[in-house]
Amino acid sequence: MPQPTSPSHIARLLRERGLSAKKGLGQNFLVDQNIVRRIVEHAALKEDSWVLEIGPGLGALTNLLAERAAQVVAVEIDSDLAALLRDTLPNPRIRIVEGDALKLSWEEVLASAGWRDEPLSLVANLPYYITSPLIMKALESGLPWEAVVVMVQKEVAERMLAAPGSKDWGALSLAVQYYAECSLVLKVPRTVFLPSPAVDSAVVKLAPRQPLVSAPREELFAVIRAAFQQRRKTLRNALKPLAGEWNLSIEHLEGALARCGIDPQSRGEVLSLEEFSKLTEELLKGV
Ligand code: SAM
Repeated sequence: MPQPTSPSHIARLLRERGLSAKKGLGQNFLVDQNIVRRIVEHAALKEDSWVLEIGPGLGALTNLLAERAAQVVAVEIDSDLAALLRDTLPNPRIRIVEGDALKLSWEEVLASAGWRDEPLSLVANLPYYITSPLIMKALESGLPWEAVVVMVQKEVAERMLAAPGSKDWGALSLAVQYYAECSLVLKVPRTVFLPSPAVDSAVVKLAPRQPLVSAPREELFAVIRAAFQQRRKTLRNALKPLAGEWNLSIEHLEGALARCGIDPQSRGEVLSLEEFSKLTEELLKGV
């Protein structure tokens, strides 16, 4: 069988069916088997592992994942590619589900494929136009991921891995680091895709764990959103509307900032997750 990542094989598969890569669906296919192998190795799958793959495309990762895991459930939005995969990868260990991964219930998709509570990982070369919502869906799903290994745009990886105060630190960094230990596993040049995208990529591994901070999640994220929605405003001003929503006085807001040792004139981008948590708890004392 030809390598699913050989450029000539990909060109022929698409040509035979009168297809071409759909830019609007983020279709950039991996054409480097070495990168595929390294991504799959970082998932550290076991014989009884199940894998949810988002956007299998032409099956570059799917094939190797199915060699290493008990079952791969792959969600593909493009009906042409879903049909092509069913024809080209007839493998009982691979279940192709046609649909929008943002809209489908992953729990239902997995359950209907027969998943009970086997070790579960998410592995994907994500479509770039919806990377952040897909990552947040994975982290908020409550599914017991052993690992989430995803290829994303390099800039998104930098935001996920950023430290407080750096230019990349923001709501995505805080959200990802709230749920998981995050590490960079691979830098990937744009040249290993067909067609080649305008940006480089990176593979990031998330190891979900219990949050390390104690503020209640919903309120913590409300404070983070408020701080970053108005990035250029001082914290005091950015948090005023939320304080209003929570029926808190400006004095209470200022007092909470002071008790946390936070300069009211500073901006959200300098606060760590721990500081956001402490601030949320102080604010909630007045609710
Ligand atoms: N996994 C393949 C590879 O590495 O060569 C393809 C990766 S390509 C970057 C992204 C894939 O996600 C495409 O096959 C695209 O059709 C699919 N896709 C885009 N939006 C999707 C969505 N909302 N739900 C599921 N799949 C989606």
